[in-house]
Amino acid sequence: MSETEAMTAKPKEPFAPGATLGILGGGQLGRMTAQAAAALGYRTHIYCPEPDCPAAQVTPLVTTAAYDDDAALAAFAGAVDVATFEFENIPLETVEALTRETLVRPRPEVLAICQDRLREKDFCGEHGVATARYAAVDGPDALARYLRDFGTPAVLKTTRLGYDGKGQVRLEADSDPAAAWAAMAGNNPDARGILEAFVDFKLEVSVIVARGADGEMADYVPVENQHENHILRTTIAPARIVRDVAVRAEATARRLAEALDLVGLLAVEMFVTEAGEVLVNELAPRPHNSGHWTLDACVTSQFEQLVRAVMGLPLGASERHSDAVMRNLLGDEAEGWRGELADRHQKLHLYGKAEARPGRKMGHVTRVVPKVED
Ligand code: AMP
Repeated sequence: MSETEAMTAKPKEPFAPGATLGILGGGQLGRMTAQAAAALGYRTHIYCPEPDCPAAQVTPLVTTAAYDDDAALAAFAGAVDVATFEFENIPLETVEALTRETLVRPRPEVLAICQDRLREKDFCGEHGVATARYAAVDGPDALARYLRDFGTPAVLKTTRLGYDGKGQVRLEADSDPAAAWAAMAGNNPDARGILEAFVDFKLEVSVIVARGADGEMADYVPVENQHENHILRTTIAPARIVRDVAVRAEATARRLAEALDLVGLLAVEMFVTEAGEVLVNELAPRPHNSGHWTLDACVTSQFEQLVRAVMGLPLGASERHSDAVMRNLLGDEAEGWRGELADRHQKLHLYGKAEARPGRKMGHVTRVVPKVED
């Protein structure tokens, strides 16, 4: 069914204030999107399997149900004007089912590509976007074969459902392919792998681009991401890269958003090598942790940009008015909220999560400083 057919019984876009945005997923990304939607006069309806999730704390419209609950999904579809998702591990079937009932942005095909590291990298290649060298591997034998070809170090990843370094194994010269495969696959007998050559990067950057239904695009300046144990620790905006690299990183994000025919947000994580190469590592068709600084340092945050794009509004300015450093509060670090607040020049954001597991993203702080011209 086309977007137009699905919409016949519902109001036409741009959706006026008072319309309802549905969000699949109830984490902090959904929470901050709901807050941005409220600022524009929209209602938000959260669909999340867990009760009292961060997003459900900021809107009264909440469905607590499993992603395969057809009746709950149908009721949700009937209650919203547009639906989006806030993380990419939502089952594809759920999003496809919703598409038959209501307008879903980004379209499910975008999710299908970004849920699968292999499809993602193939897609990049098809559109002239460079990545690390990679190969699909279906078991320890194929892994051993490609390892001989790629050399070490190399990185083995699950094609699906990996995040924050989960389902990822680094291979060295003395690594045993069978053990590496078992560590990657965990208890999933159907796991498939992708082997990547190790990129000796100088730094990691990301670009977030918004694209509206009319193809208008707005991107944020490339930012620099520092990870600890595979989890984002700090984002520095802008990234400390030369202009030529920044221009290529931005062009890459725009090219991919266009090729995906995206309506919404796309975050593109990239490696920058010593030689100035820009290699795409990962795509996320949703708000991204590396864009949280935009809340406090840009006229239009990434969350507002997503709301504008999916509700059919014109995009806002994505230029920054300040430079910024965003630091995640992981696990029990959020218990230091008093100390964070005491620093009057930074902005504290907490996500309302009750349980502080190690490494869990509980909140973030952003320090804004006067903008230094590029
Ligand atoms: P990912 O789950 O693909 O985002 O990877 C998590 C982190 O692992 C990245 O941010 C990098 O720091 C590191 N990493 C992933 N793939 C590679 C690679 N091919 N070469 C070097 N480092 C990598």
